[in-house]
Amino acid sequence: MRRLSILGSTGSIGKQTLEVVRKAPGDFTVESLTCGSDIDTIFDQIKEFRPKVCSVVNESKAMELSSRLKDEGIEIEVLTGEEGNITCATLGSCDTVVGAIVGFAGLVPVYHAVLSGKDIALANKETLVAGGDVIMPLIREKGVAMLPIDSEHSAIWQCLKGEKREDLDRILITASGGPFRSMTRSQLENVTLQDALHHPTWNMGGKITIDSATMMNKGLEIIEAHHLYGIDCDKIDVVVHPQSIIHSMIRLKDGSVLAQMGKPSMVLPIEVALYYPDRGPSIVTEFDPFDAAMNNLTFEPCDTEVFRLVKLAYEAGRKGGLVPTVMNAANESAVMAYLAGSINFLGIEETVFETVEKMESSISRLDLTIDNICQTDKDARIYADELLKGKIK
Ligand code: NAD
Ligand code: MG
Repeated sequence: MRRLSILGSTGSIGKQTLEVVRKAPGDFTVESLTCGSDIDTIFDQIKEFRPKVCSVVNESKAMELSSRLKDEGIEIEVLTGEEGNITCATLGSCDTVVGAIVGFAGLVPVYHAVLSGKDIALANKETLVAGGDVIMPLIREKGVAMLPIDSEHSAIWQCLKGEKREDLDRILITASGGPFRSMTRSQLENVTLQDALHHPTWNMGGKITIDSATMMNKGLEIIEAHHLYGIDCDKIDVVVHPQSIIHSMIRLKDGSVLAQMGKPSMVLPIEVALYYPDRGPSIVTEFDPFDAAMNNLTFEPCDTEVFRLVKLAYEAGRKGGLVPTVMNAANESAVMAYLAGSINFLGIEETVFETVEKMESSISRLDLTIDNICQTDKDARIYADELLKGKIK
């Protein structure tokens, strides 16, 4: 039985994690739940799963939730702020923390969870992009498990089971290509926010949906795979596979290629992580090789001259240090501005490139510590926000 603290329980991954718990309540307990501000959703989740503690980052929303729960006669401690996330992530009664917060905000709670010896089921890729050089050595030092939830990384993890790490030659990470696959640069100039939010195969939170449209999501995932599997970014190839059936492949040194397949759903990778090293019950619709979706599985290269953030992510991953931290922070600022309707689509990419270029030399002298990672994230956001002011439509 796993005793879970779910950080970011009201989001797309958080809700699907609770779906896994709901299907097999005897296999899990829910010790704590946290969110940013969506108290309607967390209220219902608390009523159903009865955690001991919960936390809402927004203080006035936390107070409102607390009084609603009292009115309902539910006894539970309601925490707030970033401290609340850390308390939930390090709770004595929990053994596994599900990292389902979006963005850099997920890093510090996960860092504290590892420090206090929790296994980590991680969806929040920004944690590894910004802080992988600190998190992964700590995972090894503490002897805790890193259980990947991101579908591509779950696929790679499953393919690697039973293989010797030194036999891994390359990773072929698949990408749907997003809503703008096969567009030209000039077509990208005219896309709307509504187009960008319409993902062809996956239904996800707003930030990752925009990252999929710019393909920065794949850039982040290359760096995530580099940290998880200790492989150079240059040994990771992006394979655009619009049907999202093959979730990634590995090539071994003898030329064998292994793939993991399934319909696009995050429930399965969440389940694989939470039941590790066992296999859980079947809760997704059975895989049917004769399904129409299987008739035409296609593969194409990623055009990094059109989706330039993929190229930047390779460069940032190669350089390492705090460069990926800056890239991630600038991307978060720019995506927020884009979601707010303040800038156009290519403004995201411009902001990220300009911020990385500006900050690269100043960060090169800094040691890779959690404090420097947090400070660099802040500095990069300040710089990116200044740039964004100049780009407002
Ligand atoms: P989402 O926007 O749907 O949900 C984000 C959750 O984080 C919400 O519960 C929100 O309240 C919470 N949150 C935001 N800031 C917070 C903070 N400071 N403290 C506590 N909670 C906070 O996002 P999502 O799509 O579920 O994605 C979550 C993470 O998982 C992202 O890093 C994303 O890249 C990754 N991921 C998502 C999917 C997917 O299918 N949705 C797939 C793979 C990886
Ligand atoms: Mg993914």
